[in-house]
Amino acid sequence: MSRVYNFSAGPAVLPEEVLREAADEMMDYQGSGMSVMEMSHRSKTYDKIIKDAEADLRDLMNIPDNYKVLFLQGGASQQFAMIPMNLMKNKKAGFIVTGQWAKKAYQEASIYGEAVKLASSEDKTFSYIPDCSDLDIPEDLDYVYICENNTIYGTKFWELPNTKGHTLISDVSSCFLSEPVDVSKYGIIYGGVQKNIGPAGVVIVIIREDLITEDTLPGTPTMLKYKIHADNASLYNTPPAYGIYICGKVFKWLKKMGGLSAMKKHNEEKAKILYDFLDESKLFKGTVEAKDRSLMNVPFVTGNEELDAKFVKEAAAAGFVNLKGHRSVGGMRASIYNAMPKEGVEKLVAFMKEFEAANV
Ligand SMILES: *Cc1c(COP(=O)(O)O)cnc(C)c1O
Repeated sequence: MSRVYNFSAGPAVLPEEVLREAADEMMDYQGSGMSVMEMSHRSKTYDKIIKDAEADLRDLMNIPDNYKVLFLQGGASQQFAMIPMNLMKNKKAGFIVTGQWAKKAYQEASIYGEAVKLASSEDKTFSYIPDCSDLDIPEDLDYVYICENNTIYGTKFWELPNTKGHTLISDVSSCFLSEPVDVSKYGIIYGGVQKNIGPAGVVIVIIREDLITEDTLPGTPTMLKYKIHADNASLYNTPPAYGIYICGKVFKWLKKMGGLSAMKKHNEEKAKILYDFLDESKLFKGTVEAKDRSLMNVPFVTGNEELDAKFVKEAAAAGFVNLKGHRSVGGMRASIYNAMPKEGVEKLVAFMKEFEAANV
């Protein structure tokens, strides 16, 4: 068996320990004689898997009792519609557009009502987070929406926007469980799990109870109502059962690693190794304003497209894979999620130094 250092933005690296456990349990989950994949989602065995997963997530994130945890499908992208369908009572919501994902959410919401662009960083290719301390926010907005960590551009909100009392909705797909958060500051905090938690196919929505109502936009499909999923504890229909099982294992792994404070420290150490190198390198440079840098996604360039391509190719041959930047920005991007070991980043930087010495 040979494992690479996988810097993919998503689906992405998972803890080896979790993969080994899943492999061990593949043919016979804890004496059930079957794989979790083959098991009824209404069985006692599965009920414990999904309940434990929720309990461990609540524990890790310190989720207050007046929030529901929903395990849904359709990816983060389905939430771009589900949120306005359930929450846009005044048919007006505000968006801070800091990248492609926020922009998609903004565009999708405009199908259902008025989507107001409160701020944007598109003028500089989304390389920074705009000052959101005193935005002009219309009184009648149903909510303010952000994408907290911008996977493609490598920026992160280090301070939440001042919503002036409006409900904050946040897409945390690419920074989920990377650091402690105060859930009570959000109306909804959600993300697809394939970036930092588990296999694609699960989206976790943590939603304040008062936002879960019968009063959805006319025509909202049953499957897109938060209430139906909340009332049925994410078991209205067949949930993404195997994916939730793997997420549960990752939650246990995170707890064993010391929880989210320990994870933040680990992530800060890893990111520092890479950013410090980018700051001193004569060949490579980061593309993001230093104050807004993500701990999870680190884009960088050489300034020469041919050299970028050469680097990506040689890095892959050396076992550092998926370093090509998103098609919309080019260059390189190293995604260094929770499960990327520090050693992976150290070795990548050593490789970058060698490449630099050979190419400047
Ligand atoms: C990947 C990503 C998405 C899209 O996720 P899907 O599950 O593919 O719909 C949305 N938002 C952010 C921040 C992402 O990183």
